[in-house]
Amino acid sequence: MSAIVAIVGRPNVGKSTFFNRLIQRREAIVDAVSGVTRDRHYGKSDWNGKEFSLIDTGGYVVGSDDVFEQEIDKQVELAIEEADAIIFMVDVESGITGMDEDVSKLLRRVNKPVFLAVNKVDNAMRAEDAVEFYNLGLGDFFTLSSINGSGTGELLDAVVKVLPEVEEEESNLPRFAVVGRPNAGKSSFINALIGEDRYIVTDIAGTTRDSIDTKYNRFGFEFNLVDTAGIRRKAKVKEDLEFYSVMRSVRAIEHSDVCLLLLDATRGFDGQVENIFWLAQRNNKGIVILVNKWDLVEDKETNTIKHYTDKIKKAIEPFTDVPILFISVLTKQRIFKAIETAVEVYNNRNTKIPTRKFNDTMLPIIENYPPPAYKGKFVKIKFCMQLPTPYPQFAFFCNLPQYVREPYKRYLENKLRENFDFSGVPISVFMRKK
Ligand code: GDP
Ligand code: GDP
Repeated sequence: MSAIVAIVGRPNVGKSTFFNRLIQRREAIVDAVSGVTRDRHYGKSDWNGKEFSLIDTGGYVVGSDDVFEQEIDKQVELAIEEADAIIFMVDVESGITGMDEDVSKLLRRVNKPVFLAVNKVDNAMRAEDAVEFYNLGLGDFFTLSSINGSGTGELLDAVVKVLPEVEEEESNLPRFAVVGRPNAGKSSFINALIGEDRYIVTDIAGTTRDSIDTKYNRFGFEFNLVDTAGIRRKAKVKEDLEFYSVMRSVRAIEHSDVCLLLLDATRGFDGQVENIFWLAQRNNKGIVILVNKWDLVEDKETNTIKHYTDKIKKAIEPFTDVPILFISVLTKQRIFKAIETAVEVYNNRNTKIPTRKFNDTMLPIIENYPPPAYKGKFVKIKFCMQLPTPYPQFAFFCNLPQYVREPYKRYLENKLRENFDFSGVPISVFMRKK
């Protein structure tokens, strides 16, 4: 899990330009999964070896061109609540606007690190114009040009310096996060799961703030539920914006090992649910999809489940090896099964395949169907192994790693999944030079 940096500011100051600059730099290097729709407002970045999550809060406001001040206020409030540091972006071209002043007023009151970033300072002349931003009462500021990249390094130096060190929590209990859109039934599910408060065993203090994990002992399983308080405490703001469910999901997802993604059967697996799905996938978390309120679906022939399942699988291609359960929190149907499945996914995620066994299985498969020649070159894979990482990653050693294309890596992943149980777990396949 990593610290969270939020970018706030009114529309058109250059937030998404800045965001893309930081995210792309990294995704080009790190991203092992291709062909996946990306959330363009949330991603991981790193600077000076420190990793952090970056959220472009403005990206979640619908129709952001004529956004209401009220919306901006809510955005900022939530950023203040959830983020470890805030970058407040303004625009030297337009100078200080009324909305900038409003946001400053909110930010002056917080005791979290705030970085005033004066954007579009593309040349030295504009640097002089930036002086007026002292009037916002936020003290020193950074000048930068998101378009040409100048000044971004200085800003990031300062930001990563204040980010808390977030270590992995010391606990070998599975950490489950219940995520999903508002009204999917998350709080009902958690209440059904934990029954009365006497099931709470201990509170484990979160590493940064608030208590995040709570330990439970139910159905013969011991596990931590992540951020239950945050979900049960009904948000004071109206939660129907995608932004809010995403913001709240981010922290819970990052703290978890397995995400229980709840959706309302009568509303389906829509774009916003999908967004949360990829959020979990990109964080390499285990996933169980729970189609809730199944009691409300009247036509429940066997085919209904099949059609529903097929539709979800289509949406989550190519990562379709994910358990999908049809549950009802109301009638308590398959609640136990949901937890049991989450524990299985947790175990799958922790699977370590011995190198010998892995080679014995994979090398004959590779021999049978080697990587196709590329630009007249033949690739020879000699050896493979699971890497000693907290979630499953695999390295295949060969003479010409750069000539192994994405479809062949996909092929290896599929074969791997056929031979070993990684249901519900994102895995990465790397080609390495040997
Ligand atoms: P957002 O609404 O705050 O996310 O702003 P965008 O990133 O969409 O940028 C708004 C406009 O400002 C776009 O036309 C960008 O190309 C432009 N822009 C962003 N950063 C810079 C910059 O550093 N210099 C200049 N000159 N234009 C920029
Ligand atoms: P949250 O916003 O995701 O925490 O959702 P809530 O737990 O507050 O549930 C939203 C609404 O859906 C409430 O009125 C619940 O009673 C209802 N609900 C939750 N689970 C079920 C279910 O399995 N079946 C039916 N019919 N209603 C449900």
